[in-house]
Amino acid sequence: MSEAPLNPRTRSYEFYGVPGVLAISVGLPVLTIVLNQLIRADYYIVGPFSNFHWEQVWNHLKPFSHYLYNSELWTYYMAWLFVLAFLDVTLPGRKMRGVVLRDGSQLQYKINGIAMVSALVLILCVRWNVTRGDMPELQYIYEHHTDICIITVLFSVVLATLTYICSFLPQLRRNKRGTKERILALGGNTGNPIYDWFIGRELNPRLGALDVKLFCELRPGMLLWLLINLSCLHQHYINTGQLNDALLLVNILQGFYILDGVLNEEGLLTMMDITTDGFGFMLAFGDLALVPFTYSLQARYLSVSPIELGRNRIAAICAVMLIGYWIFHSSNTQKSNFRQGKLPHLKSIQTTRGTKLLCDSWWAMSQHINYFGDWLISLSWCLCTGFQTPLTYYYSLYFAALLLHRQTRDEEKCRQKYGDSWKEYESQVPYKIIPYLY
Ligand code: NDP
Repeated sequence: MSEAPLNPRTRSYEFYGVPGVLAISVGLPVLTIVLNQLIRADYYIVGPFSNFHWEQVWNHLKPFSHYLYNSELWTYYMAWLFVLAFLDVTLPGRKMRGVVLRDGSQLQYKINGIAMVSALVLILCVRWNVTRGDMPELQYIYEHHTDICIITVLFSVVLATLTYICSFLPQLRRNKRGTKERILALGGNTGNPIYDWFIGRELNPRLGALDVKLFCELRPGMLLWLLINLSCLHQHYINTGQLNDALLLVNILQGFYILDGVLNEEGLLTMMDITTDGFGFMLAFGDLALVPFTYSLQARYLSVSPIELGRNRIAAICAVMLIGYWIFHSSNTQKSNFRQGKLPHLKSIQTTRGTKLLCDSWWAMSQHINYFGDWLISLSWCLCTGFQTPLTYYYSLYFAALLLHRQTRDEEKCRQKYGDSWKEYESQVPYKIIPYLY
């Protein structure tokens, strides 16, 4: 019997096909830039967008060529990427194997988030001492915020294009089938260049020892988000000589989430982004531009329009964050432990594929109870800005849409994968994300 092709043609399109991915490829970067233009020291949205003016958005942007040929911005951004890539490759870490790929091989990943974060914190402390708290790098990030945002968008286009082109080149080493074919994403091999460029053609592009996808997911974007938040706190401190409680709180809550993500990076190895999605513009832009420049909108807003929260509101916001984190963390840990065979006493459904679907404890409440916890976390961050404008609640709205879309994608995948077992699971666990509601 002949072997199934390693890279079958993709027959179905997501995001409404080529028109959809074109609209997202243009629309989301424009939205990201516009959102950041609406929060500047010299102009920011108040209330329900009553002072919104298009001229404020466009007139303060420089000509496209300014960004394209700006050697200073490009040098700093490339230096940021190279330093992180260098640290990623050289810092020590635990070796872990990813999921089994279609050729039967398993990629090796280096898990060195703790070393990476320690190095970054050390560098920041040293710089704080050397510059006596001046931190010109943080001031640069604050002052050139939109400029850097545009550079990250342009770089995402370049990176997605390079990885798309490279996906056609033969590998240096043979795969487990003895050919030099690269393993492509099942959803990114339609043959349509625009669609495949967007969705990601190659599953695991690598540059020597550097896994491009894992690196982008956890390093340049997440850590830039941390620096942007710090730059807002720092700027406010320089301007007023004081620390604002709301700005400090959003820094602490988001800093905790970022460090938790970077420190628990092995959890990512079994996530859809790593196991299923190819690396294309969707992930490149999402990781490098969207995360740092839209997830930091609350800190940015508070740096231009600070509010004092006071103890009671801080306690209420922390409670929302803690409940969200408890649901998010314990449900994800429970599923992971269950999959490793550590919780055999919990009720589950034996699937025809051999694996079991947990339907007990957290996983009896809804099919994606972890998403609900994650969303509560996002809400706690937005609450730090008070109720000054709906703009700072953008993140919770966007994240709800992202999680809903992710849930439908995952449901489709599981329906195909598990067939009748999934139907039985759905009858036992009817709610999708929020218990008794959805
Ligand atoms: P899940 O952790 O819910 O994983 C879904 C997969 O788990 C399914 O495809 C299936 O995979 C397996 N599975 C589903 N139900 C069960 C069950 N009952 N028992 C055992 N296995 C099951 O989703 P994600 O990977 O999308 O998300 C992981 C976390 O990351 C979430 O907490 C989410 O909120 C967060 N996240 C955060 C984002 C951000 O931008 N901040 C973006 C995306 C996610 P299999 O094929 O192995 O059976």
